[in-house]
Amino acid sequence: MVFEALVRWNHAQRGLIAPGHFIPLAEETMLIVQLGDWVLRQACMDAASWSKAAAVAVNLSPVQFKNPNLVASVKGALAASRLPAHRLELEITESVLLQNSEATRAILHELRALGVKISLDDFGTGYSSLSYLRSFPFDKIKIDRSFVNELATRKDSMAIIRAVTGLGRSLGITTTAEGVENEAQLELLRREGCTQAQGYLFSKPRPVCEVEGMLATSRASAVA
Ligand code: MN
Repeated sequence: MVFEALVRWNHAQRGLIAPGHFIPLAEETMLIVQLGDWVLRQACMDAASWSKAAAVAVNLSPVQFKNPNLVASVKGALAASRLPAHRLELEITESVLLQNSEATRAILHELRALGVKISLDDFGTGYSSLSYLRSFPFDKIKIDRSFVNELATRKDSMAIIRAVTGLGRSLGITTTAEGVENEAQLELLRREGCTQAQGYLFSKPRPVCEVEGMLATSRASAVA
């Protein structure tokens, strides 16, 4: 089972603020470097404390790749928490690969050498160049929720999911469908050989203090 770390800002006056409202600003001001470090450390600490060896997925901003200390910071988070590296998954979007791709690839290889897993997030939106899949040996492709949303009603979404899961299978890459909301979608994804599923069908975003209870009761998130 994998838990994806999703940050919220619990503001004294404004209440819970969604990441869409403060991450862009954090990226613009480079504060994302410190914020990203904190998220990474906290997520590793939390995961290391769980009673089961579930993995934790942490999203990395393209801006964090401009930080020369990114690899050291991941190494530090693993060391401080004593979380085994294979239980940490780092999610990047293709925009990371669009910028200074040689340097980025070198960083990705260094991260992978630590033993962490690297996922390509939101696949199928943006450019989604298939050459990205050759430029770095990703452990996982996360199929964007927009394709899953329309799975039952649009043949083209089905065809795209079929193509991406087939590609993943041939390349030995895990495929995760994002935004799975009902059993019908899950069944179709299972039939296409999608390896993992994520979404409201399993759980809405929950505070980390509830993870332990979920580990005890929840159904496995793996589709096949
Ligand atoms: Mn993600």
